[in-house]
Order: sequence, then structure tokens, then C-alpha cells
Amino acid sequence: MSDIMSGLDDFVQPFQVESRSAQGRLVKIGPALDAVLSAHNYPSIVAGLLSEIVVVGAMLSGTLKKAGVLSIQIRGGAAINLLVVDVTHDGGIRGYARFDETKIKSLNSDRYVADKPIVPVLFPNGKLTLTLTEEGKKSPYQGVVPLEGKTIGDCIAAYFSRSVQSEAVFKIGVDNSDLGWRAGGLMIQRLAQKGFQPQSGDERIIDVNEKWNRAVILMKSCSNTELLSKTLHPHELLYRLFNEDGVRVFHPETLHMKCRCSQEKVKNVLSNFPHSEIKKMKNGRFVMVTCEFCNCEYKFLLDDIIKIDNNTY
Ligand SMILES: [Zn+2]
Repeated sequence: MSDIMSGLDDFVQPFQVESRSAQGRLVKIGPALDAVLSAHNYPSIVAGLLSEIVVVGAMLSGTLKKAGVLSIQIRGGAAINLLVVDVTHDGGIRGYARFDETKIKSLNSDRYVADKPIVPVLFPNGKLTLTLTEEGKKSPYQGVVPLEGKTIGDCIAAYFSRSVQSEAVFKIGVDNSDLGWRAGGLMIQRLAQKGFQPQSGDERIIDVNEKWNRAVILMKSCSNTELLSKTLHPHELLYRLFNEDGVRVFHPETLHMKCRCSQEKVKNVLSNFPHSEIKKMKNGRFVMVTCEFCNCEYKFLLDDIIKIDNNTY
């Protein structure tokens, strides 16, 4: 067992089903998720849904082929205005939520319940934005789709179908106990059959479809207990699920909470703000800014941000 797996937590384990029907990623995240959430005091339903997006971000971070950032945003709700998660190529995760506390309290329940079909209720006109920013590329790739599905997992699968034109299935588990928040995720994506030439009628097409359908059934047989277990080794779990066809695992990646904010970056952002906005933020001779991701506070001299013009400020 490699050192990376010794904690059995905070990792992404890529794999491929040996029937060549599917590739996938298994995610387990505990302390790193707790670190993302603990910077804030979110209501249960907000923390639970943000945890689901963190898991999705970790599962999709393999989409980054170079150094960069994958960002997932969900907008369009009255009670929860925004859920955003960034994952870097080396497993650095950060995320935050904007919400209306009064509207959250007015919901039937503000307690997070896994697999509850809550998305259409919370985000009636929801949009999912996925942005890939990679080193060396002139502009980021951005996909924006309506939120289509009752759960976050369904919505991401619909995104794949619509934008990636690939079939994928997602299973997400989130739990909150006295030990903190933890989550797990399992995804499989149908592999393109490169160079596939149908032989003898539709025989092989049926075979390929059957293999994919079987991989989906096997993947869905994973229980929430298995997905969230801190003691079940990922290789053992994948073997349990896919041993009929065989499964090959690749090098795992670690996950950790990492905010990319810095004094310099915040100053750069501020220097592009209209003066009227800066005026709202000033406190005496200073401008105070709190990073929404990690709650770090940054303090700048007003003079350093703008040129004072006839004591306008
Ligand atoms: Zn930060």
C-alpha cells in the first residue's frame, strides 16, 4: 500500500473497468472537506450541497490535462444563491456558498438529507457552469447548461450528456457526524470504442452496450456505507464492485484544502473595482477585504488602492 493511501481519506483513485467499457474515479474526502466547510458556519443543507459539489470537483479534476483549475458553479436559487468549488490539478480544493439565511429557515427543513430530490426546489432556474483554466491556453473553456436533474449527481450526468456528449453516472454520499463532514463519490464514464468496427450484424454493438450497462449496475451497487467508510481500502471496494469484469487502478491523487488568495491577488482585483465600490468598502484609511473562500482578512491602505482625488473619499 502506498503512503498516499495509508490514511484512506482525502484522495481520488482513478480506475478502469477491464472490459474497457468504462473508466472512473473514486473519491473519499474527510479532513480536507471539513477544512473547506469549517471556515464558515453554513446551515446543514448548504454545507451538504456544497460537499456534493466538492466531491464532483474532485471527480472531474482529472479533466485537467495540464496545470490549472477546474471551477464548478451552481446559481439560480433564492435560498442558496451560489455554490462554487475550485479544484487545482494537484488536488487543492476550496469552495464557498452564498445564501439567504431567512429563506433557508423558511424551507420545510434546512437539514441536509442525502439523495433528497431537492435541486428543482432550491434552484428552479438553476444554471451549472463548468470552467477549465489551464496553463498555456489563451482562454479558459467554459460550459454553461441549465440544471437538469433532481440531485446534484443527476445534474452532472445531464451536463456530461449535453456538453461532453458522453454517458457518465455519478454516485455521491455525504455524512455529518460528531467527527465532522465527510463525503465519497464514485463516477464511471463510458469509454469511446476507438477503431470499433461492427462485425457480424449488431452482435458486437450489443456486447459493448451490455458491458457498459453491467458496469453501471455494478457501480450502483456500491452502498453509502462503503462509499463513506474510513477503513475500507479503495482497491478492495473497487474489486468488490467490478471483480466480474476486472478493474485496473491508476496512481491516486491526494486532496487538500487550499485557497489561492494572497495580498497581491486581492490588491489586483481591488485595483479594477470602480471607485464607488471601493468607497463602500473603506474603513477609515483602510480597505478591508475578506476572502469568501477561506475567510482570510486583507487590509490595504486606501492610498495604495486608489489615488485620492480632492478628498472625494
Ligand atoms: Zn482565500
